[in-house]
Amino acid sequence: MSTVTPSTTKASQSPATSDSAPSVADVMERDPVFDELGFPTDPDNLYLQVVGQMLRAAEVIDLKHRVRIILAQPKNEVMVHFPVRMDDGHHKLFKGYRVQHNNALGPYKGGIRFHQDVHLDDVKALSLLMTMKTALVRVPFGGGKGGVKINPREVSPAELERVARRFTSAIAHMIGPDYDIPAPDVGTNAQIMAWMADTYMMGMDSNAQDGLRIVTGKPVEFGGSAGREKATGQGVADVLAEMLPGIGIPLQGMTVVLLGFGNVNSWAGRILQDMGARIVAVMDHTGALRNSDGLDCRALAEYSERHGGILGYEKEPTLSGSGTRSEQGAEVISEQEFYSTACDVFVPGALEQMIKPKQAALLNCRVLAEAANAPCTPAGDRVLTEKGIEVIPAILANSGGVTVSYFEWLQNKSSVTWDATHVDRELNRHMCVAARRTLAARQRYDCDLRTAAFAAALEQIGKVYKLRGIFP
Ligand code: NAD
Repeated sequence: MSTVTPSTTKASQSPATSDSAPSVADVMERDPVFDELGFPTDPDNLYLQVVGQMLRAAEVIDLKHRVRIILAQPKNEVMVHFPVRMDDGHHKLFKGYRVQHNNALGPYKGGIRFHQDVHLDDVKALSLLMTMKTALVRVPFGGGKGGVKINPREVSPAELERVARRFTSAIAHMIGPDYDIPAPDVGTNAQIMAWMADTYMMGMDSNAQDGLRIVTGKPVEFGGSAGREKATGQGVADVLAEMLPGIGIPLQGMTVVLLGFGNVNSWAGRILQDMGARIVAVMDHTGALRNSDGLDCRALAEYSERHGGILGYEKEPTLSGSGTRSEQGAEVISEQEFYSTACDVFVPGALEQMIKPKQAALLNCRVLAEAANAPCTPAGDRVLTEKGIEVIPAILANSGGVTVSYFEWLQNKSSVTWDATHVDRELNRHMCVAARRTLAARQRYDCDLRTAAFAAALEQIGKVYKLRGIFP
């Protein structure tokens, strides 16, 4: 268990003082890197926001200028357009991205997102976060991210397979098992990883063992690792178990609210529930549910899997203690009621930029654990700071996924199979050490946890650049 020292933290100061976290506009005013690299000035731009967070930590640790400018832009940005035959016979053109942010510490690594709102700048932002994440948790990878502009809920399984395969072949010569290794993200899953691996193995003349390592997050039967599906949620739970006692929140009986109930948060919910937490409200794209006695995340996950969302679960019959059939005791609530639900820990695990000042003002929690990437805007962050809400940043909280992806890649490389207990133990060790590393950086630099996590990652990258030098 780690101890958080509250008196020196910005998050514990309420109301906001003059040294509260600066907005991106503040950072841009101060940081000449934005002008030097000709960045746009839109403060709502996700990439700008994430680079701003990185540069703030770079300033705190006095990172060399050359490393700052290298990290402020990805090494490679690839955009592809590819046609796919739809079930009715017509062809549709899709747009896809692969951004390779940095490989100073190892091969580019990061998920592939299938979502209708994927934009290049979002993919760039997520790729930078991957570089920070792998450096913080010390797995030997760099950072990358990819995406296809598609709503996977609006295509048939056969169309989805053709899109996944055609996208893989479009980027196949730019990725590689020791160069750039994709994984699942929003809208993609183990089945899509299996199609990607198969396409790569068929097209790139790679031997079967190498081909398997082209993606992680594969089905267990096809080179996947035990524990990968739940890994990100497990990592969120491991970090909370490590840090909450130091903040004065016991796991047993703590109340949790989940924003998003997909891969990450449905697993985080199930695991936290097993640890003794009460999940009092959940919201996904279909609606929001509340039960102050605690929602059964296992039953909710099964329902959501079957129906594509959580709404309707409240009407599901269940066997009560006396053996009679009753309903779940869950009530449908509004978005405003959802965000206002009192809890110890709020876990945003849906999409980016959902916690803006309006949502932050409604939150009634002590800790916000970022299961999603960049769920809080800088302006939202500021409100959280003013309210004294402790934010556990994404590059720490959700790094369990890439950690077990590394275990999967390692198992594929050495043709061994780890059992679930071994995976869980190694994951827990990595998460606890990363949490302690973040707390130590906070102590060292007297800053908020987000800046501390970035600082701990940047220290590692800075050291490697110093040792390697800049070519030529
Ligand atoms: P997912 O597609 O499985 O789930 C996304 C969830 O968000 C769904 O429950 C969806 O209903 C919900 N959602 C979408 N729009 C919403 C809205 N407007 N309001 C409320 N809920 C909404 O995705 P995932 O894999 O669970 O990823 C979630 C987040 O975690 C993303 O930020 C992703 O980048 C990040 N992440 C995922 C992994 C991983 O291993 N899958 C690893 C690290 C980080």
